[in-house]
Amino acid sequence: MKLVGVIGAGVMGTGLAQALAAHGISVVLVDSSREQLDRAESEVVRYSRTGRLFGHDTEKYGDLTQRVTYTTDIAEAAPAEFVIENITENWALKAEIYPELDRICSPETVFAANTSCIPITKIGGVTNRPDRVIGMHFMNPVPMKSTVEVIRGWHTSETTIATAMQLLADLDKRGILVNDMPGFVSNRVLMLMVNEAIFLLQDGVAAAAEVDEIFRSCFGHASGPLETADLIGLDTILYSIEGLQEFYGDSKYRPCPLLKKMVDAGLHGRKTGQGFFSYTP
Ligand code: NAD
Repeated sequence: MKLVGVIGAGVMGTGLAQALAAHGISVVLVDSSREQLDRAESEVVRYSRTGRLFGHDTEKYGDLTQRVTYTTDIAEAAPAEFVIENITENWALKAEIYPELDRICSPETVFAANTSCIPITKIGGVTNRPDRVIGMHFMNPVPMKSTVEVIRGWHTSETTIATAMQLLADLDKRGILVNDMPGFVSNRVLMLMVNEAIFLLQDGVAAAAEVDEIFRSCFGHASGPLETADLIGLDTILYSIEGLQEFYGDSKYRPCPLLKKMVDAGLHGRKTGQGFFSYTP
């Protein structure tokens, strides 16, 4: 794999650009917002300097910053052999971008959706290549996480699965293959847990630090549900839980009012500097 198109330059798209470029793969990073692309570029430069602190050989393939192109023009992703889509978790937006990618990319190109909850079969259905559409649910931060949830849509072919698994191997990651249902394995459970943790806070059962400490100290989780929510982004959590509620038609996925209020107030977690906890840049 020589050239990968990464669509969406937010938290996940930026992490993917870092991981791909650090493994010798060129990236066309596309976003509708120039400001996001500028932010992504400074994060890629920062990673090229600090990646070694995390034990990553960021110089193995030369200067990784030279391998990323930043653009607002999706047509520049046309030559990509593989596309990973990471735009906002919103069906209306994703339903527009896939037919566009379908039009501009070679019929051989595989489209990987890095969605939190949207079914891969539904995404495949708005393209003319559902056999070449697959779910690749990367974890955040992408360069640090070794495992990816890989989702087989109804029509996803074995060749597409093998191509996606090979790309993961090239990134020193491994995939765990699961079948398609909204939220897959990870977020069908995680979103409920995070949402319920926010209800605990809203109900005054415990403060954010205590809620998280119980999960870390009593259950040995690496991070509590509320700091996990801050890392993912509270807007992404809200869109995901709303999506699950709609897909399953089940009220157990109703979003906590406090979550809605924080998203309305612009408290989106780490990426805005404030969520359940405060972050300095
Ligand atoms: P984000 O809000 O940080 O970034 C989304 C980016 O998409 C923004 O930069 C926005 O400008 C861009 N965008 C929106 N519409 C676009 C369009 N039509 N064309 C081009 N760019 C467009 O979100 P994120 O956290 O990076 O999440 C992106 C996707 O990855 C979502 O589907 C999310 O569910 C999924 N995901 C997120 C995480 C996480 O931990 N944050 C983990 C796994 C998967």
